[in-house]
Amino acid sequence: MSNELIVLNQIQKIFYTEEVETHALSNISLTIKEGEYVSISGPSGCGKSTLLSLLGLLDTSTGGEYKLAGHDVSNISKEERARIRNKEIGFIFQSFNLISDLDVEENVELPLTYRKDLSKSQRQEMVKDALQKVDMSHRGKHFPSQLSGGQQQRVAVARAIAGNPSIILADEPTGNLDSKNAQAVMALLDKLHSEGATICMVTHDPRSAERAERNIDVLDGQVIADKKVLPNHSESTSITAEEAVAV
Ligand code: ADP
Ligand code: MG
Repeated sequence: MSNELIVLNQIQKIFYTEEVETHALSNISLTIKEGEYVSISGPSGCGKSTLLSLLGLLDTSTGGEYKLAGHDVSNISKEERARIRNKEIGFIFQSFNLISDLDVEENVELPLTYRKDLSKSQRQEMVKDALQKVDMSHRGKHFPSQLSGGQQQRVAVARAIAGNPSIILADEPTGNLDSKNAQAVMALLDKLHSEGATICMVTHDPRSAERAERNIDVLDGQVIADKKVLPNHSESTSITAEEAVAV
C-alpha cells in the first residue's frame, strides 16, 4: 500500500457559475503509484485540466476523497494545501508560465522561496542541480524572452523538479512547441521517469501518450479507459535525452 502515491475515490467537481452548473468531473476513482508515468487524454472540455488542478491541490473537489501519500487532503485549509503543493508537486504548463521579468535562475528558485525549510544556499544548490538536469545552466542569467520555446519549457521543467517533488504534473507540456522541441521535452520527461519520478501528463498527442506506461482516457468528466501501454516504443521516432538537450 505504501507505494500508492495518489488515491482518488469518487471525486466530483461541479463549477457553479451564475445560473449554470458544470459537472466537470464525475466519480473519478483512480490510484497512481510511486514511479508511474501516466498520461491523461480526452477531447477538449472533458475535464483533464480540472483533474490535474485537483491532483496538484490548486483547487478542491466538490465531493469524494483524495489521499496524497497516505494523507487525506480532501478537506484541508488553503494554507495547508499551498504548503503541501510547494513541497510535493511540480507543475509544467502548456504556456511555460515563466515570469518575464525574472531571469532563468530566479524563475527556477521562485517556488522554493515559499519553503521555510530551505536556506538561501540550499535553494541555490537546488536551482543549480535542476538547471544542470535540463542542460540550461549556461542560460541562468537570461530572461525568458531571450530563449526559444523549447528552452523556456526546459526551464519550466527545471522549476518543476527543483524542489524534488513527489509528483510532476504536466498539462499539455508540448502543446506550444514544434515537433523537435516537443520531442526534446518528452525525452526529458522520459529521463526523469527513468530516474524514479512519478509523472502525470495531460496530452492530446498519441505519440506523447505512448511514451507513458499507462494511458487514462477521460470523456465527459469520467474515466472511460485505463490501460497499460505495451512496450513498443518506436525507436526510429524517439530521440535520446542527450539529443534532446542539444536542441
Ligand atoms: P480540458 O482540460 O479537458 O479541456 P477542463 O478541465 O478545462 O477541460 O474543463 C472541463 C469543464 O469544466 C469544461 O466544461 C469547462 O468549461 C469547465 N470549467 C473549467 N474550469 C472552470 C471554471 N473555473 N469555472 C467554470 N467552469 C469551468
Ligand atoms: Mg485543459
